[in-house]
Amino acid sequence: MKKLSLILFSFFFVATATFAQEKKEKKKTQKGHIDQNKFRQMKDVLATPNDQHTASGAPGHQYSQQKVDYIMDIRLDEATNHIYGDEKITYHNNSKDNLEYLWVQLDQNMRADDSKTPLAKSTGASAFLTPKSFKNSYMKQKNGFGFNIETVEADGKPLSHFINRTMMRVNLPKALAPGDTFKFRIKWNYKVNNSVRDGGRSGFEDFPDGNNNYTIAQFFPRLAVYNNVEGWQNMQFWGRSEWALEFGDYEVNITVPADHILDATGELQNEKDVLTKTQRKRWEKARKSFKDPVFIVTQKEAEKAEKERSNKTKTWKFKAKSVRDFAWASSRKYIWDAMAVNINGKTVMAVSMYPKEGNPLWEEHSTRVVANTLEEYSKLTFDYPYSKAISVHAKNQGMEYPMICFNYGRPNPDGTYSDRVKNGMIGVITHEVGHNFFPMIVNSDERQWTWMDEGLNSFVEILAELDYDPNFNTGNLPKDIVRYMGGDQSNISPIMSQGDYVKQFGPNAYTKPAAGLYMLRQTIMGPELFDHAFRTYSKRWMFKHPTPADFFRSMEDASGMDLDWFWRGWFYTTDVTDIGIKSVKPLYLTDKPNERVKRLKEQYKQYFDNLGDLVYITDKKEDANTKAMDKYADGKKVPAYIYQVEFDKPGGLVMPIIVELTYADGSKERQTFPAQIWMKNDNSVKRVFASSQEIISIKVDPDLETADVDTSNNSWPKKESDNFDKFKKKLKN
Ligand SMILES: [Zn+2]
Repeated sequence: MKKLSLILFSFFFVATATFAQEKKEKKKTQKGHIDQNKFRQMKDVLATPNDQHTASGAPGHQYSQQKVDYIMDIRLDEATNHIYGDEKITYHNNSKDNLEYLWVQLDQNMRADDSKTPLAKSTGASAFLTPKSFKNSYMKQKNGFGFNIETVEADGKPLSHFINRTMMRVNLPKALAPGDTFKFRIKWNYKVNNSVRDGGRSGFEDFPDGNNNYTIAQFFPRLAVYNNVEGWQNMQFWGRSEWALEFGDYEVNITVPADHILDATGELQNEKDVLTKTQRKRWEKARKSFKDPVFIVTQKEAEKAEKERSNKTKTWKFKAKSVRDFAWASSRKYIWDAMAVNINGKTVMAVSMYPKEGNPLWEEHSTRVVANTLEEYSKLTFDYPYSKAISVHAKNQGMEYPMICFNYGRPNPDGTYSDRVKNGMIGVITHEVGHNFFPMIVNSDERQWTWMDEGLNSFVEILAELDYDPNFNTGNLPKDIVRYMGGDQSNISPIMSQGDYVKQFGPNAYTKPAAGLYMLRQTIMGPELFDHAFRTYSKRWMFKHPTPADFFRSMEDASGMDLDWFWRGWFYTTDVTDIGIKSVKPLYLTDKPNERVKRLKEQYKQYFDNLGDLVYITDKKEDANTKAMDKYADGKKVPAYIYQVEFDKPGGLVMPIIVELTYADGSKERQTFPAQIWMKNDNSVKRVFASSQEIISIKVDPDLETADVDTSNNSWPKKESDNFDKFKKKLKN
C-alpha cells in the first residue's frame, strides 16, 4: 500500500466511523462464528500426513506396499464356456504388521445366484417391458454364475477359509510376520457370462456364425490391498465401484482351442509354439513399423479361421512384471494388427484385435489411436513403462486392464458407420488405453475413489483426443459440466463420495473432475505450472498407491500454489460457479468536487490543504472534463472514462473473474482477477476500469472457462436474449 492511500484510508475510516456513531445508540452484542472462509486450509479435512504419505504429497521414507505374485494355469472350455484355473499365489508381507489372515477378492460372485447386488436396488413396476426384461425381473432362474472354489491349500494341506460374498478370508496357520512370504494355492472354475446378454466388464459375445469373442478379466481370485490407509480393503464388489489391487509378477499359461488368436497382459514367452512362421515374420516387421499398423492376421485369414473348428488346444504362455492385474482375450475371429511407437527412444507396441464385424472402422483407427494415446499420455505423465498396449473389440464394453483393454465401436452390418460410432470408438480406446496410466500404474484405490482414476484419466484423455483430432468433441470441458452442476441438487453428489452411492456417476466421477483439472490447467494455473505439478504427482506415485490427499498436496507442493480453495469447492462440495455483473457505474474525470467532497473539504480544511491539487471523479456526465488530468500526465494519454463495476457471486464457488471489455472502437481487452479476489467478501466485489475511450460492453467468462451455470448475468449491458432466457426460466418454474 502506498503512503497516500494509507492516509486517505484511515481518514475515511474515521469519517465513516463518526457517522456510524451518530446513528447507532447502543451496540448490539453479536454472535461469534468459526472460520468458514472459502480459502481456509484443508488441514482438518485431509488425512494427517505420516511417514508413508507425507505432507508434500510424496511417498514417505517408510512407504511400503504388499507384493503378490501369481503363477496360473488357465483353461478355457469353449463348449461349456467354463474357465478352470490352478493358481499359485506368493504373498509378500512388506508391511510392519503381523497378518493373521489374507483377504482374496472373488469378483465373479457378484453375479452368483446368491448375490446381494440385485437385492440392493430399489425397483418399481414399469408400465411396459420387453419379454426379456420381464423374464429378468419376474421369472429369474438360477444362472450358475460365480466362483466354484475347489481347493484352498498350502504345502498340500487344506487352508481354513471363509467366503463372504465377493471376498474370501484365508486364515493363516500362523500370523505372517513383517518381511515374510506366504505361498498358497487356489483351484477354481466358473461359468463365463455372455457380456452382451448378461452385461459385465468381461465375458464373451456369441456371434451368429457360432463363434465367441472372449474378453476375460476378474477371472481369478485376486488379493485385496492391505495398507496403512484402509487396513484390508473391506468393501464388497457391488458391480460398480472397481478395484484396489496389489502389484506383482505374473506367469500365466492359457490353454484355448488351437485355432484361437489370443493376447494378454505381459510378454508372450512361446511365440514359436503358438504363432505360425508367417505371423512371426509379420511381428518382426511390425516392430519396425512406426507409421502404419502391420497385419499379423489379415481379415481374409480371420474369415477363413472362423469357419473352421479345431479340436486341438494350444497353450499361450505370458510373463508380466509389476502389474496389478491380468486380463486376456481369445477368439478365432480375430484380425490382429500392430505397430511400433517410439516412447522417448523405447519401442512400445500398439496392438489391436477385432473381428471382421469391427471393420472398416477398426483397421483404420484402433491401433493408431492406441499409439497416439501412449504418446500423448507419456508427455503429460511419464514414459509408458510396459512393452505394449492392446485394444480389443468388444460389443458394449469399455474396460481397462494392464496392457489390454476391451472397447466398443461397431459399424453397421454393411460396414457403414455414423460419426457418433466413430468418435465413440476413438474416445473409448483413448480412455481405456489411458487407464494404463491411471489406475494401472498410478494405482489409486478405485473402490473408494472413482474420480482418482476416471477423472484424471478423462482429463488427460481430453488432450490426447484433441491431439488426434483438433475438432474432437471431448465432452469433458468446463462448459460440458454446466448442465449437471446447475441441475437439481438432490441428484448431485460431491466428487469426494464413494462410487457406489454416487448419483449421476458419469458426470460426477468422470466429467466434473476432468473439467476441473482442465480449468486448473488452462485458466487457473497455466499449462507450464500445471503440467509440472501433474507430472510430479504421476511420477511420485508410479507403481504405488496414492490417496486423494497425495494428489491435492502434490499439485500444490510442486506448483507453489495454494489450491485448497479449489479442492474444497470443486471436489468436496456441490457448489456451482455463478459470477455476474451486478452493476456498472460510468464515472467521469472532472475538476469539480461533488457536494460531499465540498463538505469534507470545509470540515477537514487543514488535511485537504496538505494534499494540494486534486482531481475528482463524478457520476454527472455534464461535469465531465476529460482534460482535468492533462497537466499532471507528462503528455501521456489520460483514461478519462471510468467504470465502477460490481461483480456478484450467486454461486457458492470462488473462481477467477475473467472480464472482457469492448471499447467504442470495437477493440477488446481481457483482464483476469484471481479467485483470491473473493477472499474478504464472498458475495460481491468491485473493480474500477479506467479507459481513454468509452467501454460499450463488459462480459464475464466470455469463453465459458469456469463452468458458470447461469450466464444470463454475465453481460453488460444486459442482452435481449438474456432477458428471453430469464423469461423462459420463469415459464419453466
Ligand atoms: Zn474409465
